[in-house]
Amino acid sequence: MKGRFGPYGGQYVPETLMSALEELEHAWLEARDDPQFQLELAGHRHAFVGRPTPIYAAERLTEHFAGATIHLKREDLCHTGAHKLNNALGQALLARRMGKTRIIAETGAGQHGVATATVCARFGFECVVYMGTEDMRRQHMNVRRMKLLGASVREVTAGSATLKEATSEAIRDWVTNVGDTHYIIGSAVGPHPYPQMVRDLQRVIGDEARDQYLVAEGRLPDVVVACVGGGSNAIGMFTAFLGDPNVRLVGVEALGRGSEVGSNAASLVAGRPGVLHGSYSYLLQDAEGQVAVTHSVSAGLDYPGVGPEHAFLKDLERVDYVAVDDMAAVAAFRLCTRLEGIMPALEPAHALAQAGLLAQELGPGGRVLVCLSGRGDKDMDSVEEFDGDGTG
Ligand SMILES: *Cc1c(COP(=O)(O)O)cnc(C)c1O
Repeated sequence: MKGRFGPYGGQYVPETLMSALEELEHAWLEARDDPQFQLELAGHRHAFVGRPTPIYAAERLTEHFAGATIHLKREDLCHTGAHKLNNALGQALLARRMGKTRIIAETGAGQHGVATATVCARFGFECVVYMGTEDMRRQHMNVRRMKLLGASVREVTAGSATLKEATSEAIRDWVTNVGDTHYIIGSAVGPHPYPQMVRDLQRVIGDEARDQYLVAEGRLPDVVVACVGGGSNAIGMFTAFLGDPNVRLVGVEALGRGSEVGSNAASLVAGRPGVLHGSYSYLLQDAEGQVAVTHSVSAGLDYPGVGPEHAFLKDLERVDYVAVDDMAAVAAFRLCTRLEGIMPALEPAHALAQAGLLAQELGPGGRVLVCLSGRGDKDMDSVEEFDGDGTG
C-alpha cells in the first residue's frame, strides 16, 4: 500500500491536509528524479553544508576498547553542527520549487529549528518555529540563534511543553496556512511522504560512508551503529547497507533513567504500535494507551515516537534495536572528547557507548562504523548538570 512500510506509516491526518500531502508527494517524486534539482542540491550540499563529510579512524577509542576498529562518520562537521541540515536544505529547495513563501517547523532541542532558520535565511523564506516552553528554557542558545537568523520562535505551553506539543502545534498551523506554507518536519516521522522524503535526503550519509569505507579499508564494516530519536540519521546511514547481508545494523535508543514507563525514550525497545503525528509506528504508551512522558539526558532523542521504516526493519529483524541509558551516554561523551579531541552530541554518544560494547564483542580484526550525527558543544550544560546531581 502507498506510503506504508509493511503495516507502518500511512497518513493519519485531518481531511484538509490530504491534498497538501498529495501535492507534496508529487512534487518530491518529480524533483527527486530531476537531474537539474539533484545538481542544485549537490552544489549546496558541497558549498553550504560542507559535504562530503569524512570518515575518521578513531584510533584511541579503538585502543581503549582493545577490540574491533572503530570509524566515525563525521556529520558533526556539517554546517550548524549536525545532520539535520541535510534534510532542511533539501526541503527548502523543494518548497521554493513548489512556489511556497513561508516555512514552519517544530523543534525540541532546537537543532532542527536552527537548521530550518538557517535555510530560510539562505533562501529568503518567512520562518516560524514552534518550540515548547520547557525546551526554550533548556536550549536558550538555540532560541537566540534562530532569532538572529530571522525566524520567529513561537512558544508552546501545552502539556509537557516539549517536542510532542510543538509538533502538534506546527501541524495545526499547516492545516490553517497550507496554501503558501511548507512544513519542514525534522525527522523521518509524520505522515507519508515525509518518512520517505526525509530518508531520501539523509541517505547521502550512508551512501558517502559506504564508498569512503570501501576506499579506506577495502571491505565493508561488520557493524554499522547509529542513534535513533525519530530515526533520520539512522535511516540515512542504514539505507546504503540494507542490501549488504553481512553488515549488521544496530539502532540505539535512549534508555534514560531505566525501563519503567516515563523514564526513557526507547520507542522501539519499550513501546508498542500506535498512531502519533499522522503515522502508525512504535510508540511509548502508558497502561491506558495514552502517549507516555519521556526522558533522556539528550533532548534530541526525547520523543515518544519513531519513524515507521524503523518499525518495519525491527519486525523484519534486519536492524537490531537496543537502548543505552543516560549514565553510559554521558560516559561515552566524556571518553570520546578526551581520547579523540572530538566532542560528540549526547545523541550519538548513545551510539558510541554501544559501539564500545560491540568492538569488545567482535574483538581485534572486527570493524565498527558509527554515525557521529552531531557535535556536542550544545550539550556541555546538560553534561555538567548530570555530573552534578547524577540525574540530568
Ligand atoms: C536531532 C538529533 C538526533 C536525533 O534525530 P534523528 O532523526 O533520530 O536522527 C540525533 N543526533 C543529533 C546530533 C541530533 O541533532
